[in-house]
Amino acid sequence: MSVPSENIPVTATMHSTPLVLRHLPYFLAAAVAVFAAATMSFDGYILNILMQATTFAIAVFGLSVVLGLCGQINLAQAAFFGLGAYAVGLGTADYQINFWICLVAGSLLALAAGAFLGMSTLKLGGHYLAMVTISFQQIVTLVMINAIWLTRGPDGISNIGRPALFQSQQSFLAFCVAALALIGYIVWHLPDTRIGRAMRAVRDNELAAGVAGIDIFRTKVMAFALSALLGGIGGGLYAGGFSYVSPDQFSFAESIVFLTMALLGGVASPIGAAIGTGLLILIPEWLRFLKTIPGLYLAIYGLFVILIVRFMPDGIWGFVQELITKWRARTPPHVASPALQLVPAKTGGEMVLEVTGLSKHFGGLKAVDKVDLSVRRGGVHALIGPNGSGKTTTLNMLSGLYKTTSGKIVLDGTDVTDMPAHQRTAAGLGRTFQNIRLFRSMTALENVVIGAERPGNTLIGEGGQDALTQRAMSALTFVGLGGRANELVSSFSYGHQRLIEIARALAGNPVLLLLDEPAAGLNSSEKVELHDLLKRIAAQGLTILIIDHDMTLVREAAQHITVLNFGRRIADGESLAVLQHPDVISAYLGTE
Ligand code: ADP
Ligand code: MG
Repeated sequence: MSVPSENIPVTATMHSTPLVLRHLPYFLAAAVAVFAAATMSFDGYILNILMQATTFAIAVFGLSVVLGLCGQINLAQAAFFGLGAYAVGLGTADYQINFWICLVAGSLLALAAGAFLGMSTLKLGGHYLAMVTISFQQIVTLVMINAIWLTRGPDGISNIGRPALFQSQQSFLAFCVAALALIGYIVWHLPDTRIGRAMRAVRDNELAAGVAGIDIFRTKVMAFALSALLGGIGGGLYAGGFSYVSPDQFSFAESIVFLTMALLGGVASPIGAAIGTGLLILIPEWLRFLKTIPGLYLAIYGLFVILIVRFMPDGIWGFVQELITKWRARTPPHVASPALQLVPAKTGGEMVLEVTGLSKHFGGLKAVDKVDLSVRRGGVHALIGPNGSGKTTTLNMLSGLYKTTSGKIVLDGTDVTDMPAHQRTAAGLGRTFQNIRLFRSMTALENVVIGAERPGNTLIGEGGQDALTQRAMSALTFVGLGGRANELVSSFSYGHQRLIEIARALAGNPVLLLLDEPAAGLNSSEKVELHDLLKRIAAQGLTILIIDHDMTLVREAAQHITVLNFGRRIADGESLAVLQHPDVISAYLGTE
């Protein structure tokens, strides 16, 4: 079953320049910024503004991760920020502990709180997360105000220490700018890493993410914990920068300010976060001259924010980025991709899928009722039946989206009945959906790369990003869309989106491919293309279980047919015999 990775020579040219060289301009710019922060002469007022912007931006980066990348709300970023700040404040002022130790402790405290909060609520829906984060925020504020013995209460903490190396406020600012640049770099590149892509997939389409092999819960918890960690780091630096903290700086209102900064600049990228943070700190300063006329200041400020959100729903940077993506889509990637190889693993016996006594009851409705199904390795097996006969429900149980009421599912020798969707995908299942489920904010190539990342895809091995990109390009080329790899999926026709979905499944080199009505909604020439594609897939030895209503396609492509009616299996066997079966004709074919 194991396939040596030499089968896919890594000749991709996309990322051939060494990492350090490619990102040299960024680090040069960062060095200039740090140098400027260290040497320019600021008055105390400007210094404070810069200090605030720098430390806030680190916390807002956290929101880029959790909300922008992963789509999970966090209304307690000021609380995580406060945990970091109080750890540094209390540690250095009250207990004379070294600044760095306090910073690390505060950041880890925030990380742990974030991970705990995430693990306890992320299994539930979005509203719960919003409520729990608000509650957590309120608890932290209450403790800061009322646990006077520990936190010194409303008076706050003064005389907070800085590290020996950066005793002056300005040298400490230079250090914070360096930290911001480093963290910004990491957050900036996160979306193109495996975990970052997983986060985006979860945000775009949770169901499809699970089926593509992503552990949804773990991904969400990681995003949430990372966000809290960045909040804690920002807060710790903030405390060192200002030498004074008090509870009102970490209230719920501040969490909303952080959120607004992220949304305003563009939540999907740290560049947006930096823009939003800068604007929201600077605008009030620019508008100071209006403060003599009460009310006008707030009105103009509010109008500004509303205008941006109205005309740039993805924030300022999101708006810019859309233009860039449109421009980049015109240049297809230069990746030399070999012809797609499908080398399905083989651990079980002659049958790649063995289902016995499968049932799904929705209340009183027996959508699927004691169905047996055996799919022979290699070839095409069709599952047909009238609308509502339980075909999609069967597929959903096979891929783990529905829990079975009863029955047993064995995939390639492994009992997968109790596994969640992503583990079944790791075990070798690939599927497409009746109503297309692509990751809408991503390009065709990115969608397919996620498929290639399927845990258990033996073809990728340790090949890294280049091998993944190459595998994805091969799959896209296989379905005929290689030239449009860099376009957003929303710019593809319905038929082509189906092909991208199939490419995503194929890139993972599955053992069994489940296709739910792939021909639905296609015009006649697209149907011919699809038919050809199925033949080419089957020719490589990949087993296909297909649901379709197109009898011509089923008759020509499938060697074996199972027929469902009212959730029960009414016929099963070799194609020609099944299609002539009197029950099948009366239940299905006769009504056409
Ligand atoms: P098919 O794909 O064969 O057209 P389905 O499997 O989608 O049929 O549906 C089988 C039956 O189960 C239908 O009567 C449908 O209304 C019902 N059903 C499917 N999913 C659900 C659900 N989540 N909740 C309740 N009933 C459902
Ligand atoms: Mg269906």
